[in-house]
Amino acid sequence: MRKIFIAGNWKMFFTADKARAYATELKEALADINDVDLAVCTNPIALEGVAKILAGSNIGVGSQNCSENNEGAFTGEVTTEMVKAVGATYALVGHSERRTIFGETDAIVNAKTKKILAEGLLPILCIGETLEEREGGITEKVIKTQLTAALDGISAEDMEKITVAYEPVWAIGTGKVATPEMAQETHAQARQILANLYSDELAQKVRIQYGGSVKPENAKELMNQPDIDGALVGGAALKADSFKGIATYNS
Ligand code: PEP
Repeated sequence: MRKIFIAGNWKMFFTADKARAYATELKEALADINDVDLAVCTNPIALEGVAKILAGSNIGVGSQNCSENNEGAFTGEVTTEMVKAVGATYALVGHSERRTIFGETDAIVNAKTKKILAEGLLPILCIGETLEEREGGITEKVIKTQLTAALDGISAEDMEKITVAYEPVWAIGTGKVATPEMAQETHAQARQILANLYSDELAQKVRIQYGGSVKPENAKELMNQPDIDGALVGGAALKADSFKGIATYNS
């Protein structure tokens, strides 16, 4: 059985001081949760302090971005080595904000995913369609293209280390959540695409999170869908009570 995995994406919020204070609050608030896996993805400046606070706890720490390059003249970028050295375990890759605002192509997402894996970090690979694509009836085609490109050249052994996050772009930060049935349908399609790329057996092992305006009020219905294995949470991950409400959706 796939264990539910709830990850928070803190985006470009929190100074290092605020992030440390919030991590301390979360560590305490979520200490008793062991039926779901937990992680928070911070900005690079806050990462080290948050990782120190959460070391040995039930909350993993991830970066929101890393370069596909080893090192060198890449102003403003951080390497996978840098984020791993300060305590990250996970790395988001292919978030729609990185794709649309920073122009990350499927080829870049593929290179970054390989680099994250080569560093020994665990990728959380984000995919998802725009509103126009959903309304055009091409959601399945879009996620197939994104998954096929992102996973090109990635072995089955490495695929087992990847969490996929299905995040319809129109549902991110908009308050418009996909209905559980709509999300389930796309998750099942994503799992079938993984089965075609690898095997049924492997596809059954991969966790597919849903992301897009997840809140305590809608978490249970979403998590109860057979192919939804967790959530990637933006806005509602910025407050301990709402993140805890999502992490304890089952109680
Ligand atoms: C996200 O940032 O990945 C996200 C899903 O944001 P929100 O929960 O705010 O829609």
